[in-house]
Amino acid sequence: MQGRFIFITGGVLSSLGKGVIAASISSIIESMGLNVSIIKLDPYLNVDPGTMSPYQHGEVYVTEDGGETDLDLGHYERYTRCKISKKSNATAGQILDYVLQKERKGDYLGSTVQVIPHVTDEIKRRIQIAQQPGTDITVIEVGGTVGDIESLPFLEAIRQMRCDHPQHCCNIHLAYVPFLKSSGETKTKPAQHSLVALRQVGIIPDIVICRSEHPLPFESLKKISLFGNVPIHAVMDQPDVERALFEVPIHLKKQKIDLLLSQILKLSPPNPANASIWESLLKKEIELRTEVQIGVVGKYLEHKDAYKSVFEALHHAGLNQGVKVRLIEIDAEKLENGEEISEVDAYIIMGGFGPRGFEGKIQVAAHARTRLIPCFGICLGLQVMTIEYARTVLGLKTAHSTEMAPDTDCPVVLSLSECKNVTQLGGTMRLGSYPCLVEKKTRCHEIYKKDLIQERHRHRYEVNQDYIDSLESAGLKISGRHPETGLTEMVEITDHPWYIGVQFHPEFQSKAFAPHPLFFSFIQAALEQSKSKIECGATAT
Ligand code: GLN
Repeated sequence: MQGRFIFITGGVLSSLGKGVIAASISSIIESMGLNVSIIKLDPYLNVDPGTMSPYQHGEVYVTEDGGETDLDLGHYERYTRCKISKKSNATAGQILDYVLQKERKGDYLGSTVQVIPHVTDEIKRRIQIAQQPGTDITVIEVGGTVGDIESLPFLEAIRQMRCDHPQHCCNIHLAYVPFLKSSGETKTKPAQHSLVALRQVGIIPDIVICRSEHPLPFESLKKISLFGNVPIHAVMDQPDVERALFEVPIHLKKQKIDLLLSQILKLSPPNPANASIWESLLKKEIELRTEVQIGVVGKYLEHKDAYKSVFEALHHAGLNQGVKVRLIEIDAEKLENGEEISEVDAYIIMGGFGPRGFEGKIQVAAHARTRLIPCFGICLGLQVMTIEYARTVLGLKTAHSTEMAPDTDCPVVLSLSECKNVTQLGGTMRLGSYPCLVEKKTRCHEIYKKDLIQERHRHRYEVNQDYIDSLESAGLKISGRHPETGLTEMVEITDHPWYIGVQFHPEFQSKAFAPHPLFFSFIQAALEQSKSKIECGATAT
Protein backbone atom coordinates (compact mmCIF):
# COMPACT_ATOMS: atom_id res chain seq x y z
CA MET A 1 0.00 0.00 0.00
CA GLN A 2 1.26 3.47 -0.85
CA GLY A 3 1.98 5.58 2.23
CA ARG A 4 -0.84 7.56 3.79
CA PHE A 5 -0.58 10.63 6.03
CA ILE A 6 -2.77 11.89 8.83
CA PHE A 7 -2.02 15.43 10.02
CA ILE A 8 -3.33 16.54 13.38
CA THR A 9 -3.52 20.24 14.17
CA GLY A 10 -5.00 22.04 17.14
CA GLY A 11 -6.84 25.29 17.54
CA VAL A 12 -7.69 27.97 20.10
CA LEU A 13 -5.52 26.78 22.97
CA SER A 14 -2.83 24.31 23.91
CA SER A 15 -3.18 21.43 26.40
CA LEU A 16 -6.33 20.14 24.72
CA GLY A 17 -4.86 16.65 24.62
CA LYS A 18 -3.73 16.57 21.00
CA GLY A 19 -1.07 14.03 21.93
CA VAL A 20 -3.64 11.65 23.41
CA ILE A 21 -5.83 12.09 20.32
CA ALA A 22 -2.85 11.36 18.02
CA ALA A 23 -1.93 8.30 20.10
CA SER A 24 -5.54 7.08 20.21
CA ILE A 25 -5.97 7.44 16.46
CA SER A 26 -2.71 5.59 15.92
CA SER A 27 -3.88 2.80 18.18
CA ILE A 28 -7.19 2.61 16.29
CA ILE A 29 -5.28 2.30 13.01
CA GLU A 30 -3.05 -0.44 14.41
CA SER A 31 -6.15 -2.33 15.48
CA MET A 32 -7.24 -2.18 11.81
CA GLY A 33 -4.19 -4.31 11.02
CA LEU A 34 -2.02 -1.47 9.69
CA ASN A 35 1.46 -0.27 10.60
CA VAL A 36 1.79 3.23 11.94
CA SER A 37 4.68 5.65 12.40
CA ILE A 38 4.15 8.78 14.47
CA ILE A 39 6.01 12.07 14.52
CA LYS A 40 5.53 15.19 16.61
CA LEU A 41 6.55 18.49 15.03
CA ASP A 42 7.23 21.16 17.64
CA PRO A 43 7.31 24.75 16.38
CA TYR A 44 9.40 26.16 19.26
CA LEU A 45 13.01 27.19 18.69
CA ASN A 46 14.65 25.00 21.34
CA VAL A 47 16.61 22.17 19.77
CA ASP A 48 14.91 19.79 22.21
CA PRO A 49 12.99 20.13 25.47
CA GLY A 50 15.99 18.82 27.47
CA THR A 51 16.88 22.20 28.96
CA MET A 52 13.32 23.49 29.36
CA SER A 53 11.83 23.81 32.84
CA PRO A 54 9.28 21.14 33.81
CA TYR A 55 7.00 24.06 34.75
CA GLN A 56 7.06 25.20 31.13
CA HIS A 57 7.06 21.97 29.29
CA GLY A 58 6.13 19.15 31.63
CA GLU A 59 8.13 15.96 31.58
CA VAL A 60 11.01 15.33 29.19
CA TYR A 61 10.29 11.95 27.64
CA VAL A 62 13.42 9.89 26.96
CA THR A 63 13.44 7.54 23.99
CA GLU A 64 15.38 4.30 23.84
CA ASP A 65 18.02 5.89 21.59
CA GLY A 66 18.55 8.74 24.03
CA GLY A 67 16.33 11.47 22.59
CA GLU A 68 15.06 14.08 25.06
CA THR A 69 11.64 14.62 23.58
CA ASP A 70 8.15 15.95 24.06
CA LEU A 71 5.93 14.14 26.56
CA ASP A 72 3.41 13.34 23.83
CA LEU A 73 5.86 10.70 22.63
CA GLY A 74 5.13 8.93 25.90
CA HIS A 75 1.47 8.69 24.88
CA TYR A 76 2.52 7.32 21.50
CA GLU A 77 4.62 4.58 23.10
CA ARG A 78 2.02 3.74 25.72
CA TYR A 79 -0.82 3.43 23.22
CA THR A 80 0.85 1.71 20.28
CA ARG A 81 3.46 -0.78 19.10
CA CYS A 82 5.24 2.02 17.22
CA LYS A 83 9.01 2.25 17.44
CA ILE A 84 9.54 5.71 18.86
CA SER A 85 12.98 7.24 18.51
CA LYS A 86 14.75 10.59 18.45
CA LYS A 87 13.48 10.95 14.93
CA SER A 88 9.88 10.90 16.15
CA ASN A 89 10.18 14.48 17.43
CA ALA A 90 11.42 17.38 15.30
CA THR A 91 11.55 20.94 16.59
CA ALA A 92 11.85 24.18 14.64
CA GLY A 93 15.19 24.61 16.43
CA GLN A 94 16.54 21.37 14.92
CA ILE A 95 15.15 22.16 11.51
CA LEU A 96 16.59 25.68 11.32
CA ASP A 97 19.89 24.48 12.73
CA TYR A 98 20.12 21.84 9.99
CA VAL A 99 19.21 24.28 7.22
CA LEU A 100 21.74 26.84 8.45
CA GLN A 101 24.50 24.24 8.73
CA LYS A 102 23.80 23.20 5.14
CA GLU A 103 23.92 26.83 4.09
CA ARG A 104 27.33 27.25 5.74
CA LYS A 105 28.62 24.13 4.00
CA GLY A 106 27.62 25.70 0.73
CA ASP A 107 24.91 23.15 -0.09
CA TYR A 108 22.54 25.86 -1.32
CA LEU A 109 25.26 27.79 -3.10
CA GLY A 110 23.80 30.40 -5.39
CA SER A 111 20.28 30.38 -3.95
CA THR A 112 18.61 32.59 -1.40
CA VAL A 113 17.76 30.38 1.59
CA GLN A 114 14.09 30.82 2.45
CA VAL A 115 11.32 29.37 4.59
CA ILE A 116 9.72 28.09 1.40
CA PRO A 117 11.18 25.84 0.02
CA HIS A 118 14.24 25.21 2.22
CA VAL A 119 12.64 25.04 5.67
CA THR A 120 9.46 23.39 4.41
CA ASP A 121 11.50 20.81 2.48
CA GLU A 122 13.42 20.00 5.63
CA ILE A 123 10.14 19.58 7.55
CA LYS A 124 8.97 17.14 4.88
CA ARG A 125 12.28 15.27 5.04
CA ARG A 126 11.90 14.96 8.83
CA ILE A 127 8.47 13.40 8.35
CA GLN A 128 9.95 10.95 5.88
CA ILE A 129 12.87 9.87 8.06
CA ALA A 130 10.57 9.30 11.03
CA GLN A 131 8.83 6.51 9.11
CA GLN A 132 9.66 2.96 10.10
CA PRO A 133 10.09 0.34 7.33
CA GLY A 134 6.70 -1.10 6.37
CA THR A 135 4.70 1.94 7.51
CA ASP A 136 1.20 2.11 6.04
CA ILE A 137 0.11 5.33 7.71
CA THR A 138 2.19 8.15 9.20
CA VAL A 139 0.50 10.22 11.86
CA ILE A 140 1.92 13.74 12.15
CA GLU A 141 1.00 15.83 15.17
CA VAL A 142 1.74 19.53 14.74
CA GLY A 143 2.45 21.10 18.13
CA GLY A 144 1.22 24.54 19.12
CA THR A 145 -1.99 26.07 17.84
CA VAL A 146 -3.09 27.20 14.43
CA GLY A 147 -2.57 30.93 14.20
CA ASP A 148 0.79 30.94 16.04
CA ILE A 149 3.53 32.65 14.05
CA GLU A 150 5.90 29.72 14.67
CA SER A 151 3.43 27.16 13.29
CA LEU A 152 3.27 28.70 9.83
CA PRO A 153 6.16 26.83 8.14
CA PHE A 154 4.81 23.55 9.53
CA LEU A 155 1.28 24.17 8.28
CA GLU A 156 2.71 25.20 4.91
CA ALA A 157 4.73 21.97 4.73
CA ILE A 158 1.68 19.81 5.44
CA ARG A 159 -0.36 21.81 2.93
CA GLN A 160 2.30 21.03 0.33
CA MET A 161 2.30 17.35 1.26
CA ARG A 162 -1.40 17.25 0.57
CA CYS A 163 -0.70 18.63 -2.93
CA ASP A 164 2.01 16.00 -3.40
CA HIS A 165 -0.30 13.14 -2.27
CA PRO A 166 -3.84 14.41 -2.89
CA GLN A 167 -5.50 11.00 -2.50
CA HIS A 168 -3.67 9.85 0.55
CA CYS A 169 -3.83 12.60 3.17
CA CYS A 170 -6.25 13.31 5.95
CA ASN A 171 -6.28 16.49 8.03
CA ILE A 172 -7.77 16.26 11.48
CA HIS A 173 -8.33 19.45 13.45
CA LEU A 174 -8.84 19.46 17.19
CA ALA A 175 -10.90 22.46 18.20
CA TYR A 176 -11.95 23.72 21.59
CA VAL A 177 -15.65 24.13 22.28
CA PRO A 178 -16.16 25.73 25.70
CA PHE A 179 -19.26 25.57 27.85
CA LEU A 180 -20.11 28.86 29.50
CA LYS A 181 -21.57 28.10 32.89
CA SER A 182 -22.97 31.61 33.41
CA SER A 183 -25.21 31.41 30.34
CA GLY A 184 -25.47 27.60 30.26
CA GLU A 185 -24.39 27.60 26.63
CA THR A 186 -21.93 25.75 24.45
CA LYS A 187 -19.90 28.21 22.37
CA THR A 188 -18.69 27.23 18.91
CA LYS A 189 -17.15 30.59 17.98
CA PRO A 190 -13.56 29.76 19.09
CA ALA A 191 -13.72 26.59 16.98
CA GLN A 192 -15.05 28.58 14.03
CA HIS A 193 -12.15 31.00 14.36
CA SER A 194 -9.53 28.28 14.40
CA LEU A 195 -11.11 26.71 11.31
CA VAL A 196 -10.92 30.09 9.57
CA ALA A 197 -7.25 30.43 10.59
CA LEU A 198 -6.61 26.98 9.13
CA ARG A 199 -8.42 27.88 5.90
CA GLN A 200 -6.26 31.00 5.59
CA VAL A 201 -3.19 28.80 5.26
CA GLY A 202 -4.89 26.60 2.69
CA ILE A 203 -6.06 23.69 4.83
CA ILE A 204 -9.64 22.48 5.10
CA PRO A 205 -9.82 19.60 7.55
CA ASP A 206 -11.45 16.28 6.69
CA ILE A 207 -12.37 15.63 10.31
CA VAL A 208 -12.95 18.01 13.21
CA ILE A 209 -12.75 16.70 16.75
CA CYS A 210 -14.31 19.07 19.26
CA ARG A 211 -12.75 19.04 22.72
CA SER A 212 -15.35 19.94 25.25
CA GLU A 213 -16.18 19.51 28.89
CA HIS A 214 -19.44 17.67 28.19
CA PRO A 215 -20.85 15.74 25.21
CA LEU A 216 -21.89 18.28 22.58
CA PRO A 217 -25.45 18.87 21.45
CA PHE A 218 -26.12 18.03 17.80
CA GLU A 219 -26.83 21.72 17.10
CA SER A 220 -23.25 22.67 18.01
CA LEU A 221 -21.78 19.94 15.84
CA LYS A 222 -23.99 21.08 12.96
CA LYS A 223 -22.83 24.67 13.32
CA ILE A 224 -19.19 23.64 13.24
CA SER A 225 -19.85 21.47 10.20
CA LEU A 226 -21.44 24.42 8.39
CA PHE A 227 -18.81 27.00 9.28
CA GLY A 228 -15.91 24.62 8.88
CA ASN A 229 -16.95 23.19 5.52
CA VAL A 230 -16.76 19.69 6.98
CA PRO A 231 -19.55 17.10 6.56
CA ILE A 232 -21.55 16.57 9.74
CA HIS A 233 -20.57 12.89 10.06
CA ALA A 234 -16.93 14.07 10.20
CA VAL A 235 -17.51 16.42 13.15
CA MET A 236 -17.00 14.48 16.38
CA ASP A 237 -16.85 15.38 19.99
CA GLN A 238 -14.39 14.36 22.64
CA PRO A 239 -15.68 15.35 26.04
CA ASP A 240 -13.43 15.19 29.12
CA VAL A 241 -13.00 11.57 30.14
CA GLU A 242 -14.52 10.45 33.40
CA ARG A 243 -12.21 7.67 34.42
CA ALA A 244 -9.14 7.16 32.27
CA LEU A 245 -7.47 8.44 29.13
CA PHE A 246 -8.09 5.18 27.32
CA GLU A 247 -11.73 6.17 27.08
CA VAL A 248 -10.57 8.37 24.17
CA PRO A 249 -9.96 5.61 21.58
CA ILE A 250 -13.20 3.93 22.68
CA HIS A 251 -15.17 7.14 22.20
CA LEU A 252 -13.62 7.91 18.80
CA LYS A 253 -14.32 4.37 17.59
CA LYS A 254 -17.95 4.74 18.75
CA GLN A 255 -18.19 7.72 16.42
CA LYS A 256 -16.89 5.49 13.60
CA ILE A 257 -13.64 7.31 13.01
CA ASP A 258 -12.17 4.05 11.65
CA LEU A 259 -14.71 3.88 8.81
CA LEU A 260 -14.26 7.54 8.04
CA LEU A 261 -10.47 7.21 7.90
CA SER A 262 -10.84 4.19 5.58
CA GLN A 263 -13.00 6.27 3.26
CA ILE A 264 -10.81 9.39 3.29
CA LEU A 265 -7.54 7.53 2.92
CA LYS A 266 -9.00 5.00 0.45
CA LEU A 267 -7.95 2.01 2.48
CA SER A 268 -9.02 -1.21 0.87
CA PRO A 269 -10.32 -3.46 2.14
CA PRO A 270 -11.46 -1.26 5.03
CA ASN A 271 -10.90 -3.26 8.19
CA PRO A 272 -13.00 -2.15 11.15
CA ALA A 273 -11.06 -1.17 14.26
CA ASN A 274 -11.12 -3.20 17.42
CA ALA A 275 -11.18 -1.33 20.71
CA SER A 276 -11.45 -4.44 22.89
CA ILE A 277 -8.07 -3.92 24.56
CA TRP A 278 -9.19 -0.47 25.76
CA GLU A 279 -12.65 -1.70 26.67
CA SER A 280 -11.23 -4.42 28.89
CA LEU A 281 -8.95 -1.89 30.61
CA LEU A 282 -11.90 0.42 31.15
CA LYS A 283 -13.81 -2.46 32.69
CA LYS A 284 -10.92 -3.01 35.12
CA GLU A 285 -10.92 0.71 35.90
CA ILE A 286 -14.62 0.66 36.73
CA GLU A 287 -14.15 -2.35 38.98
CA LEU A 288 -11.36 -0.80 41.08
CA ARG A 289 -12.32 -1.10 44.74
CA THR A 290 -9.31 -1.09 47.06
CA GLU A 291 -7.28 2.09 47.34
CA VAL A 292 -3.69 2.80 48.28
CA GLN A 293 -2.20 6.18 49.04
CA ILE A 294 1.13 6.93 47.44
CA GLY A 295 3.10 9.93 48.67
CA VAL A 296 4.67 11.57 45.65
CA VAL A 297 7.75 13.41 46.85
CA GLY A 298 8.83 16.06 44.37
CA LYS A 299 9.07 19.73 43.65
CA TYR A 300 7.20 20.30 40.41
CA LEU A 301 3.92 19.03 41.80
CA GLU A 302 1.79 21.98 40.77
CA HIS A 303 2.51 21.14 37.15
CA LYS A 304 0.55 17.95 36.56
CA ASP A 305 2.53 16.95 33.49
CA ALA A 306 5.97 17.20 35.09
CA TYR A 307 5.82 13.58 36.30
CA LYS A 308 3.45 12.29 33.62
CA SER A 309 5.05 8.90 32.91
CA VAL A 310 5.52 8.07 36.60
CA PHE A 311 1.86 8.80 37.32
CA GLU A 312 0.86 6.69 34.33
CA ALA A 313 3.10 3.81 35.44
CA LEU A 314 1.61 3.90 38.97
CA HIS A 315 -1.87 3.86 37.47
CA HIS A 316 -1.00 0.90 35.20
CA ALA A 317 0.40 -1.05 38.15
CA GLY A 318 -2.70 -0.42 40.25
CA LEU A 319 -5.12 -1.11 37.44
CA ASN A 320 -3.67 -4.56 36.85
CA GLN A 321 -4.13 -5.64 40.46
CA GLY A 322 -7.50 -4.06 41.14
CA VAL A 323 -6.07 -1.16 43.13
CA LYS A 324 -6.94 2.49 42.83
CA VAL A 325 -3.81 4.58 43.30
CA ARG A 326 -4.45 7.83 45.12
CA LEU A 327 -1.58 10.26 44.76
CA ILE A 328 -0.77 12.41 47.77
CA GLU A 329 1.47 15.32 46.89
CA ILE A 330 4.42 15.85 49.21
CA ASP A 331 6.31 19.02 48.40
CA ALA A 332 9.94 18.31 49.28
CA GLU A 333 10.72 22.00 49.69
CA LYS A 334 7.93 22.49 52.24
CA LEU A 335 9.36 19.64 54.33
CA GLU A 336 12.59 21.63 54.51
CA ASN A 337 10.56 24.47 55.97
CA GLY A 338 9.16 22.33 58.74
CA GLU A 339 6.06 20.78 57.19
CA GLU A 340 5.35 17.27 58.49
CA ILE A 341 5.62 14.24 56.24
CA SER A 342 2.12 12.95 55.42
CA GLU A 343 1.42 9.38 56.47
CA VAL A 344 0.70 7.24 53.41
CA ASP A 345 0.98 3.59 52.37
CA ALA A 346 4.18 4.13 50.38
CA TYR A 347 6.45 6.90 49.13
CA ILE A 348 7.91 7.51 45.72
CA ILE A 349 10.87 9.90 45.59
CA MET A 350 10.95 11.55 42.21
CA GLY A 351 13.85 12.45 40.00
CA GLY A 352 14.97 16.04 39.64
CA PHE A 353 17.81 18.48 39.30
CA GLY A 354 19.41 21.00 41.62
CA PRO A 355 19.46 21.44 45.41
CA ARG A 356 15.93 22.79 45.94
CA GLY A 357 13.95 20.19 47.87
CA PHE A 358 16.91 17.77 48.16
CA GLU A 359 16.98 17.75 51.98
CA GLY A 360 13.21 17.28 52.07
CA LYS A 361 13.65 14.15 50.00
CA ILE A 362 16.38 12.97 52.41
CA GLN A 363 13.86 13.34 55.26
CA VAL A 364 11.36 11.12 53.46
CA ALA A 365 14.01 8.48 52.70
CA ALA A 366 14.93 8.37 56.40
CA HIS A 367 11.27 8.30 57.48
CA ALA A 368 10.37 5.42 55.14
CA ARG A 369 13.54 3.46 55.91
CA THR A 370 13.27 3.63 59.69
CA ARG A 371 9.50 3.08 59.83
CA LEU A 372 9.61 0.23 57.34
CA ILE A 373 7.25 1.95 54.91
CA PRO A 374 7.67 0.98 51.21
CA CYS A 375 9.74 3.52 49.32
CA PHE A 376 10.72 3.77 45.66
CA GLY A 377 13.48 6.15 44.56
CA ILE A 378 13.74 7.14 40.94
CA CYS A 379 17.00 8.56 39.56
CA LEU A 380 17.68 11.41 42.01
CA GLY A 381 15.57 9.26 44.36
CA LEU A 382 18.28 6.55 44.33
CA GLN A 383 20.95 9.16 44.99
CA VAL A 384 18.92 10.52 47.92
CA MET A 385 18.44 7.04 49.40
CA THR A 386 22.15 6.31 49.11
CA ILE A 387 23.25 9.61 50.66
CA GLU A 388 20.74 9.26 53.50
CA TYR A 389 22.07 5.74 54.21
CA ALA A 390 25.67 6.97 54.14
CA ARG A 391 24.86 9.86 56.49
CA THR A 392 22.82 7.90 59.01
CA VAL A 393 23.94 4.30 58.90
CA LEU A 394 27.60 4.77 57.94
CA GLY A 395 27.83 7.91 60.07
CA LEU A 396 29.28 9.97 57.21
CA LYS A 397 27.51 13.12 58.33
CA THR A 398 28.71 15.28 55.45
CA ALA A 399 27.82 12.77 52.71
CA HIS A 400 26.45 14.62 49.69
CA SER A 401 26.20 14.86 45.95
CA THR A 402 28.56 17.18 44.09
CA GLU A 403 25.50 18.37 42.19
CA MET A 404 24.12 19.92 45.38
CA ALA A 405 27.39 20.61 47.20
CA PRO A 406 30.26 20.88 44.70
CA ASP A 407 32.89 21.22 47.46
CA THR A 408 31.69 18.40 49.69
CA ASP A 409 34.42 16.41 51.47
CA CYS A 410 32.29 13.27 51.20
CA PRO A 411 31.09 12.92 47.58
CA VAL A 412 28.94 9.79 47.81
CA VAL A 413 27.34 10.87 44.54
CA LEU A 414 29.44 12.61 41.92
CA SER A 415 29.35 13.52 38.26
CA LEU A 416 30.14 10.94 35.60
CA SER A 417 33.88 10.92 35.00
CA GLU A 418 33.49 11.68 31.32
CA CYS A 419 31.30 14.66 32.15
CA LYS A 420 33.59 16.09 34.83
CA ASN A 421 34.73 19.07 32.84
CA VAL A 422 31.46 19.69 31.14
CA THR A 423 29.98 23.10 31.63
CA GLN A 424 27.52 23.17 28.74
CA LEU A 425 24.11 21.93 29.82
CA GLY A 426 22.35 20.55 26.70
CA GLY A 427 23.13 17.02 25.56
CA THR A 428 25.78 16.03 28.13
CA MET A 429 24.03 13.32 30.07
CA ARG A 430 23.85 9.61 30.32
CA LEU A 431 20.82 9.34 28.09
CA GLY A 432 18.75 6.52 26.67
CA SER A 433 18.70 2.79 27.15
CA TYR A 434 21.56 0.98 28.91
CA PRO A 435 21.90 -2.63 30.05
CA CYS A 436 21.89 -3.50 33.74
CA LEU A 437 23.02 -6.75 35.37
CA VAL A 438 20.61 -7.77 38.09
CA GLU A 439 22.25 -9.34 41.12
CA LYS A 440 20.83 -12.79 41.89
CA LYS A 441 19.05 -13.39 45.22
CA THR A 442 17.92 -9.80 45.52
CA ARG A 443 14.42 -8.31 45.67
CA CYS A 444 15.09 -6.70 42.28
CA HIS A 445 15.93 -10.08 40.76
CA GLU A 446 12.75 -11.55 42.24
CA ILE A 447 10.82 -8.70 40.63
CA TYR A 448 12.40 -8.67 37.17
CA LYS A 449 13.01 -12.45 37.04
CA LYS A 450 15.89 -11.67 34.68
CA ASP A 451 19.67 -11.42 34.90
CA LEU A 452 19.99 -8.66 32.33
CA ILE A 453 17.59 -5.78 31.76
CA GLN A 454 17.53 -2.62 29.65
CA GLU A 455 16.30 0.66 31.12
CA ARG A 456 16.36 4.30 30.06
CA HIS A 457 18.51 6.93 31.75
CA ARG A 458 18.68 10.71 32.03
CA HIS A 459 21.23 11.93 34.56
CA ARG A 460 24.70 13.34 35.02
CA TYR A 461 25.56 12.00 38.46
CA GLU A 462 26.37 8.51 39.80
CA VAL A 463 27.00 6.72 43.06
CA ASN A 464 30.72 7.04 43.84
CA GLN A 465 32.27 3.56 43.53
CA ASP A 466 34.68 4.32 46.41
CA TYR A 467 31.80 4.08 48.91
CA ILE A 468 30.17 0.94 47.57
CA ASP A 469 31.95 -1.62 49.77
CA SER A 470 31.11 0.24 52.97
CA LEU A 471 27.53 0.82 51.87
CA GLU A 472 27.08 -2.86 51.05
CA SER A 473 28.61 -4.09 54.29
CA ALA A 474 26.28 -1.74 56.14
CA GLY A 475 23.24 -3.28 54.43
CA LEU A 476 22.52 -1.22 51.33
CA LYS A 477 22.64 -3.84 48.61
CA ILE A 478 23.71 -2.87 45.10
CA SER A 479 21.22 -5.02 43.22
CA GLY A 480 21.90 -3.76 39.69
CA ARG A 481 25.09 -2.69 37.94
CA HIS A 482 26.08 -1.58 34.48
CA PRO A 483 27.84 -4.67 33.03
CA GLU A 484 30.99 -2.90 31.79
CA THR A 485 31.55 0.05 34.11
CA GLY A 486 30.05 -1.43 37.25
CA LEU A 487 28.08 1.80 37.80
CA THR A 488 25.32 1.45 40.38
CA GLU A 489 21.91 1.11 38.73
CA MET A 490 19.77 -0.29 41.57
CA VAL A 491 20.00 -0.33 45.36
CA GLU A 492 17.80 -2.03 47.94
CA ILE A 493 17.56 -2.86 51.61
CA THR A 494 16.92 -6.55 51.85
CA ASP A 495 15.38 -6.59 55.33
CA HIS A 496 12.91 -3.80 54.63
CA PRO A 497 9.41 -4.51 53.26
CA TRP A 498 10.25 -2.60 50.04
CA TYR A 499 13.04 -0.08 49.74
CA ILE A 500 14.41 0.18 46.21
CA GLY A 501 16.15 2.96 44.32
CA VAL A 502 16.88 2.92 40.62
CA GLN A 503 19.24 5.22 38.72
CA PHE A 504 17.12 4.86 35.57
CA HIS A 505 13.54 5.74 34.66
CA PRO A 506 11.46 2.54 34.53
CA GLU A 507 8.30 4.61 34.02
CA PHE A 508 9.13 5.09 30.34
CA GLN A 509 8.54 1.40 29.63
CA SER A 510 5.20 0.90 31.34
CA LYS A 511 1.98 0.40 29.39
CA ALA A 512 -1.58 -0.01 30.64
CA PHE A 513 -1.70 -3.55 29.26
CA ALA A 514 1.90 -4.33 30.30
CA PRO A 515 2.66 -2.64 33.63
CA HIS A 516 6.31 -2.31 34.60
CA PRO A 517 7.33 -5.05 37.09
CA LEU A 518 8.96 -2.60 39.53
CA PHE A 519 5.85 -0.42 39.69
CA PHE A 520 3.65 -3.50 39.94
CA SER A 521 5.63 -4.84 42.87
CA PHE A 522 5.75 -1.38 44.53
CA ILE A 523 1.95 -1.09 44.47
CA GLN A 524 1.69 -4.64 45.78
CA ALA A 525 3.91 -3.60 48.71
CA ALA A 526 1.82 -0.46 49.26
CA LEU A 527 -1.27 -2.66 49.39
CA GLU A 528 0.37 -4.93 51.97
CA GLN A 529 1.28 -1.87 54.01
CA SER A 530 -2.24 -0.52 53.85
CA LYS A 531 -3.68 -3.88 54.93
CA SER A 532 -1.24 -4.15 57.83
CA LYS A 533 -2.21 -0.62 58.94
CA ILE A 534 -5.86 -1.65 58.94
CA GLU A 535 -5.05 -4.82 60.88
CA CYS A 536 -3.01 -2.85 63.44
CA GLY A 537 -5.86 -0.37 63.75
CA ALA A 538 -8.31 -3.23 64.26
CA THR A 539 -6.13 -4.80 66.96
CA ALA A 540 -5.67 -1.49 68.73
CA THR A 541 -9.38 -0.84 69.09
N1 GLN B 1 20.10 15.39 39.04
C1 GLN B 1 20.45 14.03 39.05
C2 GLN B 1 21.53 13.72 38.02
O1 GLN B 1 21.72 14.44 37.10
C3 GLN B 1 19.24 13.13 38.82
C4 GLN B 1 18.57 13.35 37.51
C5 GLN B 1 17.16 12.77 37.45
O2 GLN B 1 16.54 12.54 38.47
N2 GLN B 1 16.67 12.55 36.26
O3 GLN B 1 22.18 12.72 38.15
